[in-house]
Amino acid sequence: MSRRIYLDNNATTPIHPEVLDAMMPYLKDDFGNPSSIHQFGRKARVKVDEYREKVAAAICADPAEIIFTSGGSESDNFAIKGYSWANRKIGSAGSRCGGHIITSSIEHPAVLETCRYLEKNGFRVTYLPVDEYGITDPSDVEKAIEKDTILISIHHSNNEVGTIEPIDEISGIAKSKGIVVHTDAVQSLGKVPLDVNKLGVDLMSLSAHKLYGPKGVGATYIRKGIKNMYPLISGGSQEMKRRAGTENVAGIIGFGKACEIAVSDIEKESVRIAGLRDKLQSLIIEKIPDIKLNGHPVKRLPNTLNISFESAEGETIAINLDLSGVAVSTGSACSSGAIEPSHILLAMGIPLETIYGSIRFSLGRGNTLEDVNYIMDILPSIVNRVREI
Ligand SMILES: *Cc1c(COP(=O)(O)O)cnc(C)c1O
Repeated sequence: MSRRIYLDNNATTPIHPEVLDAMMPYLKDDFGNPSSIHQFGRKARVKVDEYREKVAAAICADPAEIIFTSGGSESDNFAIKGYSWANRKIGSAGSRCGGHIITSSIEHPAVLETCRYLEKNGFRVTYLPVDEYGITDPSDVEKAIEKDTILISIHHSNNEVGTIEPIDEISGIAKSKGIVVHTDAVQSLGKVPLDVNKLGVDLMSLSAHKLYGPKGVGATYIRKGIKNMYPLISGGSQEMKRRAGTENVAGIIGFGKACEIAVSDIEKESVRIAGLRDKLQSLIIEKIPDIKLNGHPVKRLPNTLNISFESAEGETIAINLDLSGVAVSTGSACSSGAIEPSHILLAMGIPLETIYGSIRFSLGRGNTLEDVNYIMDILPSIVNRVREI
């Protein structure tokens, strides 16, 4: 097996060679601590600030609004816990009354589990349903708002099906009621243009490793004017006193470089990748019977294709594809012998049988038309074989 085709770019991406080149000096000779006053430190400080500007530019923010973190999960935790703890409503006579939070039922676990943690600590959370495409209806958000709603957290796009949410409409509703909006935009960064002002959000989570940057670095965007945020990590005064700890200098540089590359060719690359995705989609529809497209057919990330093969087990298809060198992921995860269906596909109302047959193809920079053709050489017979089991 010589062929290796990677179609799991929503899980992680390879580091872009130019990103690695930009990082290397800061892992070797230029190792200074940005807080140090000598030239080693000053050089690192200058670089961190320079690359902070590139991350900010990718979402049309001000560099002072970017707080570097250890990744998307920390960014979600920081945005939601940091804002909620600092802005909780204090009940009377020692009662714990945290306030109300609205989110959707198809968020990343970093959002859902953070909300569950807050629920255990006095907050109330509404988990909104989504439609068959995974879209949160803005009018549902409006109806869920209560007197003490402090935060609305709805992701910009979904990692499993690629559906893009109507965040601008949701934040319009929130703004009219003075409620802060957070969006997890980890999957969108580098795939579709992001503008925090057009979106009208106050908090945004980002991660580097989903756009050809290194793992273990991300950012939380905090709109100017959001003064009350509890830090998740207490200690030194790094990151404008909002996140302690010596900066991940090489990681930040890699993240900034990845943003710069993405911004410079987002139009060209997203059209190219969407073309490959659409080709793969139409060939699957043409060549394989009894399939179902999961996610919105149009309001969707350009690289994501989630398809259910009816009467077939997705896990088995994925394993067979892997044996032929093709890496994909499934809408159900096998944990300790039992198959756990995806909470996202479940919330979209997809029948269990259909969920078990789902496969996520997430394309990226490395993919070519040859890859699509190779997959279509092997996929129909794999599906046939699996269906016969
Ligand atoms: C990957 C992902 C995260 C987590 O990011 P990490 O950097 O891996 O912690 C959060 N939200 C979404 C939507 C993601 O796809």
